[in-house]
Amino acid sequence: MSLKREECEVGSLVELAKEELLKIIEESGAVNDGHYKLVSGNHSNRFFDINRIANNPKLIGRLSTEFIFWTRKNIDINIDVVLSPVTGGRILAFDLVREFNGSMETRLAHAPVDFETKPGCVLPELTPPSRIYEGENVLIVTDLSSTGSGLRSLETIVNDKKANLLGIVAVATRSPEAQNTLMEIAQKNNVKSHWLIHFNWKHWPPGKGSCYLCDQNIPLVEPAGGLSNFSPIIFGLKTSAA
Ligand SMILES: [Zn+2]
Repeated sequence: MSLKREECEVGSLVELAKEELLKIIEESGAVNDGHYKLVSGNHSNRFFDINRIANNPKLIGRLSTEFIFWTRKNIDINIDVVLSPVTGGRILAFDLVREFNGSMETRLAHAPVDFETKPGCVLPELTPPSRIYEGENVLIVTDLSSTGSGLRSLETIVNDKKANLLGIVAVATRSPEAQNTLMEIAQKNNVKSHWLIHFNWKHWPPGKGSCYLCDQNIPLVEPAGGLSNFSPIIFGLKTSAA
């Protein structure tokens, strides 16, 4: 499907033109129609597959450039660590760290994603060998926030390590709850945030009676986003448990 413009809101972009962003999202095929199980466990008729963009160096590079411009404009102290979940966001984080390392020493850190007990849930812990030390300056980078719970996990990591949160950047949010959580965390920590697009899409609890697609026995796609192409080992869960 093509992106329905009335169903999305574009953030305050610094370098990327609004039309270019929408074109990247549309032409990558990242917006899908169907019966999806979201990382939160809820069901929806729409899905944003960040991997369609993340797997294309040219496209993810454009989004990285936007975040780099925003960061240079809004953060004027050394960024010690870029923290992201081990989803498509890790590719974005890698791009940013590579760029930042031209002028400062920045490390990558990742949080694992649980695909076994809480499918898609970002865990409030670090994937070895990631390290964040007390007093370090951390920028949170994420791809998609469905409910905001992953952002809370990333904030918990920064707080637990007694590190300083510098800012939060996200490609997309897909619920008012996710948007509110992003704003709330930024406000609470007195930092700025930057998101590129917000999808005003609906989601609902799974099962007949609550999901009209379950009612119609439409085959369910899970976990959405092609995440099943990656094993939990790659995403750090097994590594961290070992
Ligand atoms: Zn359903």
